Amino acid sequence: MTLILDWDGTVTVDDTLILALREFGDWQVYLDAAAALARGEITLHEEIRRDAESIRTPIDEVVAWLVERLELRPGFHELAEAYRPLIVSSNFRQLIEPILAREGVRVEVRANDVEWEPGGWRATFRNGDACGTCGEPCKRADVTSADAIGEVVYVGDGYSDRCAAQAADRIFARDGLARYLDERGVAYEPFDDLSDVTRALA
Ligand SMILES: [Mg+2]
Ligand SMILES: [Zn+2]
Repeated sequence: MTLILDWDGTVTVDDTLILALREFGDWQVYLDAAAALARGEITLHEEIRRDAESIRTPIDEVVAWLVERLELRPGFHELAEAYRPLIVSSNFRQLIEPILAREGVRVEVRANDVEWEPGGWRATFRNGDACGTCGEPCKRADVTSADAIGEVVYVGDGYSDRCAAQAADRIFARDGLARYLDERGVAYEPFDDLSDVTRALA
């Protein structure tokens, strides 16, 4: 079995990038970009690019702030120990890896990159090509290229998981992803804490 976890809102309680934007970025940029994404006018990557560009604080400072307060969803350690998950995120590895180091958890991470520039953070995306299924760059490519052994299980919560989750054999969903799958009649198992997932997989 291959377990794939989204990061923000799945492993973490709150979305890291939203927390960072509220503290260091431009909240109006976030609101406008989120609305444009919801209307289907921009891609998720474009939303993330605009959000990141609104932060001018050095990355190290933002990371230190996050490491101090970012809360993980209960049950992560136990799930990570039992199934050695692959984390697949639209967020930046620079904001994810320090949290995993804080937790003493070593797992593979596939995420995007960000660099500090005077005019604002600059995002670089690993999956640049439009996905053949959903039409925009998306995480499905990570699921289908995950060197999966046996059943693929995907755990997610939001927009970035919509297409990727449906490439898996079994889905655990919460929040926006659960509502999206409900609307489309796609089967999934709901979860709240990650211990729910560990229990269901046992
Ligand atoms: Mg998420
Ligand atoms: Zn897709």
